[in-house]
Amino acid sequence: MKTGDDYLASIKSLDLEAHIMGEKTGHLSEHGLVRPSQQAVALTYDGAHDRDTAELFCVESNLCRETVNRFTHLHQSTDDLVNKVKMQRYCGIKTACCFQRCVGLDAANAIFSTTFECDGKHGTPYHQRFRDYWTWVQQEDLVVDGAMTDPKGDRGKRPKDQADPDLYLRVKERRSGGVVINGAKLHQTGMLNSHEILVMPTMAMRPGEEDWAICCAVPTNSEGIHYIYGRQASDTRKLEEFGLDMGNPVFGGQEVMTVFDNVFVPEERIFMDGEIDFSGILVERFASYHRQSYGGCKVGVGDALIGATALIASMNGVGGASHIRDKIVEMIHLNETIYSCGIACSATGEQTPAGNYQVNLLLANVCKLNVTRFPYELARLATDVAGGLLGTMPSAADLSDQVAGPYIRKYLAASPEGDVVDRIKVLRLIENLVAGAGSVGYLIESMHGAGPPMAQRIMIGRQADLEGKITQVKGLLDIE
Ligand code: SF4
Ligand code: FE
Repeated sequence: MKTGDDYLASIKSLDLEAHIMGEKTGHLSEHGLVRPSQQAVALTYDGAHDRDTAELFCVESNLCRETVNRFTHLHQSTDDLVNKVKMQRYCGIKTACCFQRCVGLDAANAIFSTTFECDGKHGTPYHQRFRDYWTWVQQEDLVVDGAMTDPKGDRGKRPKDQADPDLYLRVKERRSGGVVINGAKLHQTGMLNSHEILVMPTMAMRPGEEDWAICCAVPTNSEGIHYIYGRQASDTRKLEEFGLDMGNPVFGGQEVMTVFDNVFVPEERIFMDGEIDFSGILVERFASYHRQSYGGCKVGVGDALIGATALIASMNGVGGASHIRDKIVEMIHLNETIYSCGIACSATGEQTPAGNYQVNLLLANVCKLNVTRFPYELARLATDVAGGLLGTMPSAADLSDQVAGPYIRKYLAASPEGDVVDRIKVLRLIENLVAGAGSVGYLIESMHGAGPPMAQRIMIGRQADLEGKITQVKGLLDIE
């Protein structure tokens, strides 16, 4: 298993380039906007080598029987599902941001079971192909981006009816030995920090939409792929000389628009090609795994926000005030409610016909629906407790000014035990999470990542067995 440093070296050696703020940019590892996001991924590797966490991160692979990093594991029990959530919570509090490596893990588990069932029905060769591919991913300990979300163009139209057929990624050409794909995937978490990409269809396809039902793997440095880096609120603070204003001085997330301009995919990397009846199943399974994931990662980031809120309250001298303590208890209650859902959908998961374990679909969707609400309430409470200084603090540059610096230190002093710079550090971290670069992962992604709230409502409606409840009531009341 790689260490964080091994990982950073391996990503650097891919020599990826991206369009960042108007410039085609190489040497991404040295770029101020990219480096924090790579450091967050590196933590997912170091966890496997840290004495305190190795047991949680290391697990025996069912494919190669070697010890692998859990971020590449095909879940073999409900304990594995629970441990995944625990591991994500750990990474969330350590980084206070999105550490990006879960998407490929969730894609792999969904593709593993879907290909097995697809082969059973259609006689296709996908499952063994995927097993071979994923064995290699595990042994090489790679980061894999799970690429699902298509641009979708006019939402009122099907893929084949769009003015531009590439608005949903599709097979454009079939050649001997493989296919050529064209299109784009948006909002790609950690794409430039990944070695491989698992492309999946974005929704259930219908007859006539076979070309859009494509699932395959390509290396991130494939010819024809173009990356356009996503901006985050206050991101250029990462490029400033004074680290204090960054809020999160070490880690950060990454989202990338990824364009596939006639990219060739060899046959051995194709795991679905036209089997429209399995496209929706794949989407549903992937989404459910990722909705479970949020029951770990967002909770970890919530832990960081709660810690920062409690710390600023005590630095402000109001840590003991009963209404402040009550607000912090409310934050804990909301955060642990999300975690409870993450654990519950894992503990009640079930084995798939392929042998790996699937989360409880109903509870995973309940988990994610809570995530579309609770982090916003946590952010509101943190803003409340932190005070208005959260939005009005002078810059770190002024702290070192001969005239302004002493005034800032004099007038931003609060509780005598608290250092002014430490107070600013804590406030900047809260600002980062509720309104800055970190809010992309903690708030906007909580709303839309793994699907927006309506997608969870639809699944909850479908999974809840409403008819069964009606039947029970009829029985209770002796109604025919
Ligand atoms: Fe992992 Fe959470 Fe980031 Fe998704 S949002 S990749 S689950 S850390
Ligand atoms: Fe996400």
